[in-house]
Amino acid sequence: MSDDAPARDFVRDIVEADRASGALEVVTRFPPEPNGYLHIGHVKSAALNFGIAAEYPEGRCYLRFDDTNPTRESEEYVESMKEDLRWLGFSWEGRLTHASDYFEDLFELALRLVRKGKAYVDDQGPEEIRASRGTLIEPGRESPSRQRATEENEDLLLRMRAGEFPEGSMVLRAKIDMASPNLNLRDPVMYRILHRPHQNTGRRWCIYPMYDWAHGQCDYFEGVTHSLCTLEFEDHRALYDWFLAALEVEPRPRQYEFARLNLDYTVLSKRTLIRLVDAGHVDGWDDPRMPTLRGMRRRGYPPAAIREFCRRIGVTRKDSVVEMGSLEHCVRAELDAAAPRAMCVMDPLKLVIVNYPEDREETLSAPNHPRNPEFGRRELPFSREIWIERADFMAEPAPGFFRLAPGREVRLRFAWLVTCIDYLCDDAGEVREVRCTYDPDTRGGSAPDGRKVKGALHWVCAKRSAAAEVRLFDRLFTVADPAASEDLISVLNPESRRVVPNALVEANLAEASPGAFYQFERQGYFCADAVDSAPGLPVFNRIVTLRDTWARRRQARPEPARSRPPGA
Ligand code: ATP
Ligand code: MG
Repeated sequence: MSDDAPARDFVRDIVEADRASGALEVVTRFPPEPNGYLHIGHVKSAALNFGIAAEYPEGRCYLRFDDTNPTRESEEYVESMKEDLRWLGFSWEGRLTHASDYFEDLFELALRLVRKGKAYVDDQGPEEIRASRGTLIEPGRESPSRQRATEENEDLLLRMRAGEFPEGSMVLRAKIDMASPNLNLRDPVMYRILHRPHQNTGRRWCIYPMYDWAHGQCDYFEGVTHSLCTLEFEDHRALYDWFLAALEVEPRPRQYEFARLNLDYTVLSKRTLIRLVDAGHVDGWDDPRMPTLRGMRRRGYPPAAIREFCRRIGVTRKDSVVEMGSLEHCVRAELDAAAPRAMCVMDPLKLVIVNYPEDREETLSAPNHPRNPEFGRRELPFSREIWIERADFMAEPAPGFFRLAPGREVRLRFAWLVTCIDYLCDDAGEVREVRCTYDPDTRGGSAPDGRKVKGALHWVCAKRSAAAEVRLFDRLFTVADPAASEDLISVLNPESRRVVPNALVEANLAEASPGAFYQFERQGYFCADAVDSAPGLPVFNRIVTLRDTWARRRQARPEPARSRPPGA
């Protein structure tokens, strides 16, 4: 698919066909249940619903909170979902609704079904109802309540609403077919009694509609034309249609199903993610390793990259698992164009330039972006002592190692060519200082005689650099399909976060503003953590590496021990 081709998929084909046959409106809705934070799976649905509506001048998309279960829902989740959707760039001007806004209308429709003899109050307990539902090969048993007279059903439903009965004592059920091969049609429950306050309606209600009852009717109230949901609702479509037909309402919305997004090495389910948060396996919903929008935002994923990812994966009816690498590819592409460059040394080793005057300090200059001059330039302080990456020096260079080693000349990015003449070790035999000479004729990093060097090192000035903490992330789980493992916790990746406490960055990054992002040359893309950064001590999250090191690792081509970081 070319980069700006409009999305095409089977849902859009259906919408187009409906338009061609005279349908005037295109109305969709994105219906999250506020029982957790949004994850990237939700973006697939939001992008489809908001996206289609935006493609038609008279298209509308509602943001409708599906808040029919007061025991799990909260205002905190409602607010976070709105904020995350806004961050992604979706808008619903004046079309923010809740299933609970329609509780009164839903109740009216329920009474209508009762009066038509199509719903009844069942005073069997939850256990009996479950036991009499039957199985895939056995029909269910009809409840004795099924024969209750219409007037009595109406009376009982009104009294259920009035709060006369305890939780679990009765429910309202649709009267459909206890022998239907589709279990969803075996007299499904429409209302249950819950004496619980609701985040939107407070204590006004003590009976709450079930999802299947509320959803299609809310679609009808809002004039939704295409009700798009994920494949697990396919078997619910018959019930969706049954309610609308029994109520004889027009025009009727239609339900269409598409495959949900699955990403490897993570889980996309609020219910599962909440377990990780509550048990402290991650640092909250916004932990940068989480597949939530909060996590991705804190980690530094640009919203445009997430939208682009959703456009690329498309919408089909075929279940599949998308590689995390495809999302990272989109993040990299966006950041390559958008991120100013900087230098960061994670594991500092001192380099002393013996022929550089001790008292001299000067200021070099480097472009902030290699291809886009609009990013401008920045100043790079330089002095006799600088820090380089420990992994960029080998006293006894391994084959294929082209960076600094005794007798070898390399380039210091934007500075000079230097040649290693000596190195010093500590008592344990670890290198503690590398000594070099520099060639004063190579300012900017190129030699007038055109001689080439193979290695180019990033560095920071020892006199003027800033301390930083760097956090490196890896996959949250060790297996591609963690949801399939018996014990989710046992497949958490213990190395999913590595903290580098004593990194050094260019001095001007000491005050990096929260959320600011950079490419640290040769290291990857990084974002100043919005929660833990303090003035003078920034914390940088690695958003993504420069190349797909993960794919390389999986092909079981072991990286030579730290001798070739990405971009070397
Ligand atoms: P979860 O298990 O994470 O709570 P859900 O389907 O119960 O998922 P909802 O809040 O009901 O979450 O979802 C809102 C909308 O987003 C629904 O239309 C749902 O089908 C869709 N959605 C949820 N997860 C995905 C996913 N992984 N891929 C595509 N769409 C999804
Ligand atoms: Mg749900």
